[in-house]
Amino acid sequence: MAEAQHTPVAGAAAEAARAVPRRGFGRVWALSGALAVLAAVLLLTGRPTSGGLYRSDWWVTVVIGVGFALSERFVFHVEFRREAMSFSLSEVPTVFALAFLGPLPALVIRVVGSLVVLVPHTRPPPFKFAFNAAWFAAEIMVAFTLADLIVTDPATQGSGRFLVAAAAATVVTSLAGTVVVNLAISCVEPGFAGRLRDDLRAGGVIAPVLALTSAAAVAPALFGIEYAVLSIAPVVAVWLVLARFGQLGQAYRDLGAVHGFAGAVGTSLELDDIVSTALDRVVELVRASRGALVVFDADGHTVACATAGAPDWVLPQRNAPGAWAWVLEGTRAGGFDDVTLEPVDPAVSNHSTGLAVPVRSGEAVVGALIVGGRLIRPSLFDRADRRRLDALADQLGQAVAKALMHSAMAHAALHDPLTGDPNRAMFERAVHHELTVAGPAGPPPSVVGPAETVAVLMLDLDEFKEVNDTLGHHVGDRALLEFAERLRHMLEPADLLARFGGDEFAILARRDGVDAMRAFADRILARSHVPLALDGYDVVLPVSVGVAIVTRDDRDAAGVLRRADIAMYVAKRRHTGVELYRDDIDRRTPERLALVADLRDVIDRDALTVHFQPKLDLATGTVVGAEALCRWQHPTRGWVSPDEFIKVAEETGLIRRLTDQIVSKAIAASRRWCEQGIDLTVAINLSTLDLLDDGLPGRIEQRLASHGVAPERIVLEITESALMADTPRTMAIIDRLHRLGVQLSLDDFGTGYSSLSYLRRLPVSELKIDRGFVANLLLDAQDEVIVRSTIELGHNLGLRVVAEGVETDPVVQHLRSLGCDLGQGFGISRPLDIDAFERWLATSPFCVRAAFVPPG
Ligand code: C2E
Ligand code: CA
Ligand code: CA
Repeated sequence: MAEAQHTPVAGAAAEAARAVPRRGFGRVWALSGALAVLAAVLLLTGRPTSGGLYRSDWWVTVVIGVGFALSERFVFHVEFRREAMSFSLSEVPTVFALAFLGPLPALVIRVVGSLVVLVPHTRPPPFKFAFNAAWFAAEIMVAFTLADLIVTDPATQGSGRFLVAAAAATVVTSLAGTVVVNLAISCVEPGFAGRLRDDLRAGGVIAPVLALTSAAAVAPALFGIEYAVLSIAPVVAVWLVLARFGQLGQAYRDLGAVHGFAGAVGTSLELDDIVSTALDRVVELVRASRGALVVFDADGHTVACATAGAPDWVLPQRNAPGAWAWVLEGTRAGGFDDVTLEPVDPAVSNHSTGLAVPVRSGEAVVGALIVGGRLIRPSLFDRADRRRLDALADQLGQAVAKALMHSAMAHAALHDPLTGDPNRAMFERAVHHELTVAGPAGPPPSVVGPAETVAVLMLDLDEFKEVNDTLGHHVGDRALLEFAERLRHMLEPADLLARFGGDEFAILARRDGVDAMRAFADRILARSHVPLALDGYDVVLPVSVGVAIVTRDDRDAAGVLRRADIAMYVAKRRHTGVELYRDDIDRRTPERLALVADLRDVIDRDALTVHFQPKLDLATGTVVGAEALCRWQHPTRGWVSPDEFIKVAEETGLIRRLTDQIVSKAIAASRRWCEQGIDLTVAINLSTLDLLDDGLPGRIEQRLASHGVAPERIVLEITESALMADTPRTMAIIDRLHRLGVQLSLDDFGTGYSSLSYLRRLPVSELKIDRGFVANLLLDAQDEVIVRSTIELGHNLGLRVVAEGVETDPVVQHLRSLGCDLGQGFGISRPLDIDAFERWLATSPFCVRAAFVPPG
């Protein structure tokens, strides 16, 4: 065995060139010297240097020399754990040398025969050359010494004894070679013990095989040198078996590795996750010690980057390709010199110390993947590694493209397309962050002082509609841009401006005290009376500002925004320009108190009703479910919108009973449809507060049991903002609901905060795209992108995607072409009471599925 033959310390050499140049090389030189001395001592003290044990002719020497050369040329690799070890069949010529040559000629042809092949093939640096030569010499002298100890006189002891000696010498030199090569590597690289253990384990299998092969090869020649021809058979057979074994193993591992890679990288949509996971895997798969992965956006800017093993390369830049142009302009993996960064021409050499490959998505280059410093022997990357890297880059390209789309979509979902400012979703997220992470800042609103005060200002232009209608949308847009620009000039660095759409803006501001906040709002108001110059007109756009101070008790962004909203409406109604929210603006108004009393009354009488709106399978035209929507007909006010009374129910603690009543009615409807032989799921909306109610899962379970309804027929719709609470308690309740067997659906998707990667951790099976995006699907390109991407990404996460707010037939068609699973909206049917809903089912052009009727 001769792992020394290839480049035993090449990886180590590159490593050493960086870290411990002199000392590491010096030790290798010292080790080589010791081996040379050992060889010399054994040569001088051993048997007379002339003839062999068996008689032979001069040409036998030549053949054995050729044998050494061939054995170094045709090595085979065996992988064990993360190590690839190279073996040669140099033991065979060694055994022949023991039989037919004296020690000195054997030593000479061993060293010369092997190096003649190795030097042009691997161009080793001097220290490595010296090490190889010294080890070859020592190895053959150890073999001779051992053979001489066992066979003192072949004439009387017979050839059987020689074969034993040959086999023993082979085993010993094989294992000694393993130790010595590992010693050399340990001069420049840590990890000696672990590597040696692995190598010896593999060697323990290979060494006896080599010993038997050598003995079998030499045996016929002992009867007469002309029978040496027969030696070829065992040698070729063993070589083929081992080489084939190595290839098969490698092919199998490659397949598994690439497959596992696609799995690991494809599960995430977050670019940073993908990039770091991918690089870790790639580095491991090609056994590199250094690597870098860079990803570019459409403009060529680096948007993500990961490195492993601290490479000191200047990384590629898409808009300044420089040294890496050959990678970014290429299509396949190519080799380069890890030190000079020069590409290696594949026509000149298939081996290189580094490899780089462009990461592509279709035609476009979206990144570059670079590895260097191969850890194992042989320490050069070869053609198989390039192929492997190509396959990995292909997989990676797809994952990166998806992630880039996701982040573009995330940006679009969080910014206003006109002004480029954050939109409502992002603003709410910032307020939420302020409340949770930054800590509940500021004093209660009653405390006026210099303490830091955080507030949300809601701004609404008073006469914007007139400007838009009389001067046109174009001027309207300019007015909004100008107004936003003015606001930006009035902000402090820590403030955040957002546009909520239309003529609504919001500011998250931080000032020293409530007075300073008030003064800020007044300045905005004063400034809004200064005319804007638009298309030759001087236009005054007065603003109404509502201010809500963030208090220690604030827990959710929606509450703060609502207060700012209320204050803003009061400012508008009273024409005061600026209002600070006060409790009595809202809560204690007589109307509200009356509403609370009436709601309590209707709940006490269990007199709320439920309407059902169908969910249509767009591909098959089958009605597959219905959403239960709560309805309240007020004796004097008529239908009260759920948006209004659900809020009141939440604020007054009535929500729990309300939810219970809706759950009962929805489950009863489910039972009724089952009995009519109609297969429909029934969706129930849960409020944020329901997810803090420990008793809810138990009560739902009990209702299901008492009505004999299978849990999978029920879908619970939870909103993104409910998840934002993300308390362990919320999560525990979601988990318990999931374990009940009911389905969970994420409602109003796109309006809240959840990232898709967060979604992956939730046990939801359905995602409902908020109707705000669906309504304008055919008119607004940005909404279209969001809907399209949400569908695709939802599917990637294995979710059923529902579009709500489908108002027209063309929207239905378009959603169908986008592959959306279900549609719901006025365009299919308005929500209807249960009898009207059943009549609709019977007369609509859509089909229903037949249900299995449970007994009892
Ligand atoms: P949601 O869960 O998003 O329910 C869908 C809302 O969209 C319903 O409004 C429905 O009437 C409306 N809708 C359906 N198709 C269309 C369409 O094509 N165009 C438009 N513009 N709107 C459409 P609704 O019934 O007023 O309910 C409003 C919200 O009140 C619901 O939004 C839900 O969040 C809440 N809600 C309703 N019932 C309940 C309930 O029983 N419990 C709880 N916690 N919340 C409920
Ligand atoms: Ca819903
Ligand atoms: Ca919804």
